[in-house]
Amino acid sequence: MWVDFKALTALIPVSAVAKRLGWHQVAYIPASRSARGPCPLHKGSYARSTTFQVQDDRGYYRCFKCGRHGDVIQLYADHYGISRRAAALQLVEDFRLTPDQVSGEE
Ligand SMILES: [Zn+2]
Repeated sequence: MWVDFKALTALIPVSAVAKRLGWHQVAYIPASRSARGPCPLHKGSYARSTTFQVQDDRGYYRCFKCGRHGDVIQLYADHYGISRRAAALQLVEDFRLTPDQVSGEE
């Protein structure tokens, strides 16, 4: 199946993917419009940790501790240890998107 990465990242908020991976919001920083919470990627996070930053309007995440960063596809790829292509296909399945939605055509 063809998946347009741009269409996919526009459809799924980073926070929704992070929450699916066990992340929860601890704080919100209005200045950078970013939500903070414990990192779902590296071990050793504690419940009130705020190292993991999510910016839904930019479709971007970054962890200040382990340094991992990217878009929703990269988040899945990092978490499952799979390629970006495999991560994209997994996102389509997990978020029940149709091929039409992610084909990249209007
Ligand atoms: Zn991390």
